[in-house]
Amino acid sequence: MPNVILLGPPGAGKGTQAKRLEDERGMVQLSTGDMLRAARTSGTEMGRRVAEVMDRGELVTDDIVIGLIGERLSASQGGGFIFDGFPRTLKQADALAALLDRMGQRLDAVIEMQVDDAVLVARITGRYICGSCGAVYHDTTRPTRVAGVCDACGSTDLRRRADDTEEALKQRLLEYYKKTSPLIGYYYAKGLLTTVDGLADMDAVGAAVAAVLDRRG
Ligand code: AMP
Repeated sequence: MPNVILLGPPGAGKGTQAKRLEDERGMVQLSTGDMLRAARTSGTEMGRRVAEVMDRGELVTDDIVIGLIGERLSASQGGGFIFDGFPRTLKQADALAALLDRMGQRLDAVIEMQVDDAVLVARITGRYICGSCGAVYHDTTRPTRVAGVCDACGSTDLRRRADDTEEALKQRLLEYYKKTSPLIGYYYAKGLLTTVDGLADMDAVGAAVAAVLDRRG
C-alpha cells in the first residue's frame, strides 16, 4: 500500500481525510498531534511541557516528534501510512525519508490540501472530536447524527481541543507558513507533490485524494 503525506494548514481537513483512508483502504493514520495529545495526558514532565507548547499553537521540538514517529514506524510492518501533521519542518522531512529508507519503504505521494485562510477560523472554532476514535465533527457543517454521540463508534466522549481557539489558530497559521509551507517546494522538487482543493465538500476532496493514490500508489 502507498505511503502518503497530507499537508496543509490547521483546519484543511487532513484528519478527516486520513480517517476516510483508514476506513476505505485499511491504511494507517499516523498523526503526531494525536500522539502528542496522548503524551500530554501521561502526567510526565515531558507531557506537561508539550501541553504548554501545543496550547500556545507553537511547534513541539523536532526531536520529540521524530522520536514518536520513529517508535511507531519501528513497531509496524509493511506500509500504507498516512502521515497527518508530520512532517512539519524540513528537518522532520529529512528524518522521515531516512526512517522509511531504513524500513525499505518509500514515500509515494504528498497531497497538499489547499484552503483559504478565511474559512479556517470557522472550521476550527466549530470543531469537535471523538476522544475515543478520533472522528472529526463540526457544529454546523458536520454535526453528529445524535447530539453527544459519535456516529462512528458510539462513544459519548466528544471533546473540543484546547488549541482550537481563534487566538491559538493565529499562532498555528504563523508556524505553518514559516516552518511547514517550505515543504511544498521541497516535495514539488522531488516530484511527489499534488495539490487538491480543500475547500470542496468532503466527498469531493476524498475523491481527489483517492485519484492521487490510485495514480501513484
Ligand atoms: P495537529 O493535531 O496536527 O493540529 O497538531 C496539534 C499541535 O501539536 C500542533 O499545533 C503542535 O503544537 C503539535 N504538533 C503536532 N505535530 C507536530 C509536528 N510534526 N511537529 C511539531 N509539533 C507538532
